[in-house]
Amino acid sequence: MNADVLQSTESFSRRPMWAQVDLDAAAYNMQHIRRFVGAHTLIMAVVKADAYGCGAVAMARVFLQNGADQLAVACLDEAVELRRAGITAPILVLGHTDGRRAAEVVGYHIDVAVFHYDDAVLFSQEAERTQQTVRFHIAVDSGMGRIGYKLSERSVEEIKRIRALPCVMMEGIFTHFAVADDAADDACAYTKEQFFQFTQMYRWLWEEGVSFRFRHCDNSAGVLAYPAFFCNMVRPGIIQYGYNPFGAARHPEFVPHPVMSLRCCITHVKRLEEGETVGYGRRFRARRPTLVATLPLGYADGYTRLLSNRADVLVRGRRVPQIGNICMDQCMIDVTDIPDVRVGEECVLFGRQGNEYIGADELARIIGTIPHEVFCNIGRRVPRVYFEKGRCVGRTEYLFQT
Ligand SMILES: *Cc1c(COP(=O)(O)O)cnc(C)c1O
Repeated sequence: MNADVLQSTESFSRRPMWAQVDLDAAAYNMQHIRRFVGAHTLIMAVVKADAYGCGAVAMARVFLQNGADQLAVACLDEAVELRRAGITAPILVLGHTDGRRAAEVVGYHIDVAVFHYDDAVLFSQEAERTQQTVRFHIAVDSGMGRIGYKLSERSVEEIKRIRALPCVMMEGIFTHFAVADDAADDACAYTKEQFFQFTQMYRWLWEEGVSFRFRHCDNSAGVLAYPAFFCNMVRPGIIQYGYNPFGAARHPEFVPHPVMSLRCCITHVKRLEEGETVGYGRRFRARRPTLVATLPLGYADGYTRLLSNRADVLVRGRRVPQIGNICMDQCMIDVTDIPDVRVGEECVLFGRQGNEYIGADELARIIGTIPHEVFCNIGRRVPRVYFEKGRCVGRTEYLFQT
């Protein structure tokens, strides 16, 4: 158990479980991305979904201090959270923002993705009323099938009308790739076709006198696999948090450092006789006298029930199996091979302990998802504990925030 974590928090007497966030790893990753994209490409650091569960404000600060130029979030509320925390860098809302929230958009100086004329009108009116400018990034649907204008004459006409609105700045144009993380030939062809559609839209608009300060399309996978598509801005997400979307084997030129680990302390140890069972549904039955430890964290905290009987946990730098159905708030592990294990010892659900490592990507693979989702699932009940140079430098308790 890290003494520093305990010291920093008498509150661990409440429930000894936390997500540990390594600020040095986050800084390293952003510096690395900066070197990778070069000095002339702007970096829009994606900090949506509470910075993939790591804490949006803390991550935004680290990224901006280590090479990021701008921030991106998914919705307006996330942008407002950053502004209220005193962050002044440009922030783009990547998803839809309703024009009825124009007062906040303009008042907080938030940049918005625009793909409906009617919203654009409301933003423009508010900017005019308050004698300010509102900045738009036009969203282009080049094949993601999610949001944005498709390549067509009609789209160009509508974007021209948006551009003609008062107090509007055409700050950017962007699109999003559907299969940039897939190295198969047909996926590469699809991504190239997406890029072609995007540039085509940009050219048509340019010929019509509509130009943009920034063009951007590369997410993390795009940054690694499609440097030719950097344009003048990129939008890295998951690589900032330490995961290469292609898996560790590809792109050895960029090995990011995992930022978050999920940890807890054992709350109970007991011995089971052969034949006794563990948990709801009695999904684990002892085939031998078994030493079982109970952990104070379950699927409500983000340790999904889908992992039941399928994941390993680290104890004393060794892998032991999770056993029985994971409960909402607790789960059990088999520590028979670590006979003198004690209440209070630190366990790692994902992250490093000693020489052993369980990646969030390992858990993701077991349940058929991506690390993004493993991080986003980490609940509000889990304190975020920030480490820098091996020392605890901060802690966020979502439950006790005013
Ligand atoms: C989430 C998101 C990103 C970042 O994606 P990663 O796969 O995490 O790199 C970039 N752009 C848009 C539009 C997004 O929604």
